[in-house]
Amino acid sequence: MTAPPAITPQPDEPAGPVIVWFRDDLRVADHPALHAALARQRPIVAVYVFDDESPGVRPLGGAARWWLHQSLRSLAATLEKLGGRLILRRGAAAAIIAQIVHDTDAAAVFWNRRYGEAERTIDTAIKAELRGRGVDTHSFAGSLLFEPWTVQTGQGGPYSVFTPFWRSCTAGPPPRAPYPAPTSIASSTGGNAANGLDSDNLNDWGLEPSAPDWAAGLRAAWTPGEASAQKMLERFLSEALPRYAAERDEPAQNATSRLSPYLRWGEISPHQVWAATQQAQRELSGPALTSATRFLTELGWREFTYHVLFHAPDLATTNLRPAFDAFPWPPVDERALAAWKQGRTGFALVDAGMRELWRTGSMHNRVRMVTASFLIKNMLVDWREGERWFWDTLVDADAASNPFGWQWVAGSGADAAPYFRIFNPNLQAAKFDPHQQYIREYVPEYGTDAYPEPLVDLGETRRAALAAYERVKAQS
Ligand code: FAD
Repeated sequence: MTAPPAITPQPDEPAGPVIVWFRDDLRVADHPALHAALARQRPIVAVYVFDDESPGVRPLGGAARWWLHQSLRSLAATLEKLGGRLILRRGAAAAIIAQIVHDTDAAAVFWNRRYGEAERTIDTAIKAELRGRGVDTHSFAGSLLFEPWTVQTGQGGPYSVFTPFWRSCTAGPPPRAPYPAPTSIASSTGGNAANGLDSDNLNDWGLEPSAPDWAAGLRAAWTPGEASAQKMLERFLSEALPRYAAERDEPAQNATSRLSPYLRWGEISPHQVWAATQQAQRELSGPALTSATRFLTELGWREFTYHVLFHAPDLATTNLRPAFDAFPWPPVDERALAAWKQGRTGFALVDAGMRELWRTGSMHNRVRMVTASFLIKNMLVDWREGERWFWDTLVDADAASNPFGWQWVAGSGADAAPYFRIFNPNLQAAKFDPHQQYIREYVPEYGTDAYPEPLVDLGETRRAALAAYERVKAQS
């Protein structure tokens, strides 16, 4: 762990405020852009733009919109306690940021980077425009441990296999230590620069469902926000980390961190998780020590998905392996697809997972793999269909990890499971939910007459999937 770089004011800076543009980093601790802005000792203007106008930005799904609403409310309250104010605006980011720069006479605009192609295009254009007008504009690394373009193969290209990627990441300098949380963002030089600026009312954005209000299960399962993220991390490290390696595949064990939505929205940074895990690791020995390494490797998978997305921006729509373009997907059977979405396939682990997803906005990793494999390989539905459903229903719906996960299961992705590895959902249930605790939680009618008949014949559909895959093999 290296010390965070010091960020010091430049002697000849103009005196206007610094705009901190919050995006996928809805926290104040370990926030490099905010930290750098505070080091300038100028008034701070904190801004969030709900951009549903710029071309190419993928609209958020329903569960993600719910999370964003809670997260912004939490960030606004935190900033207020620190003497600041969060300005909310809706529309095309370029126009809005330019307007706020104009209205506040801002000297600088700071943000933490994002990695999708549309978002990078927006940010690059804004940076060029503002710098052209003499506004000091800086982007920082706040959401990934290793910036995607800094990790390269011996030939200078991107990695397509995880193990050498992660070996290369971990062979270099360790991730920097987290920046401390600010104690105040009120400026000594001029009160609150955001006073007097218009801000939207969060409720007017309609991010929360109303008629019907389907979010009760989400509210029961999750408390979004930075403080909650820290509590989740502490719970995980003290209670579950030692058994993580042994039990992470068993959905009934609560052995994983459940940090994915907090990481997705940047309510916690991977640097904070990395540092706290390293700290906890010092107390561990034997198999528990392996657990910590295993957990850090999972954070590595998150890094890898962003590395892949950076180099293949259309990951959500295009097979990474072009041979899969030849896959003969039959027309979608809408009734069967609805049964999968609603958890009525007649396969208990699949149904438990799909109902967990619908009720809580999340699903255990092992079950994500099983439900995805079932859709793609037993129902012969194109992985993009499933990716869209997860995008709409997951609170951690992530532009990198979600399409990456789907392509991984399909076999069309980077370092993917081979297509012919087809999970048997009944064997997976026997292995990873042997006492049916997880299944009974979400499918209480399992084993009674009320439970649906199996939607498909596992053997027959497996053979059909393998036959279809022959077309891909012929292209490889
Ligand atoms: P832990 O086991 O505690 O892991 C810690 C962190 O490491 C996670 O919070 C996550 O940020 C990261 N991580 C762990 N496993 C993976 C992985 N396989 N790929 C990428 N990052 C990982 N994860 C998302 O964050 N958003 C998604 O939209 C998403 N969609 C997925 C879709 C499919 C089909 C599959 C198979 C996986 C998907 N994943 C996604 C990855 C993984 O299932 C979740 O990150 C994990 O279940 C989150 O639980 P946790 O926080 O308790 O994980």
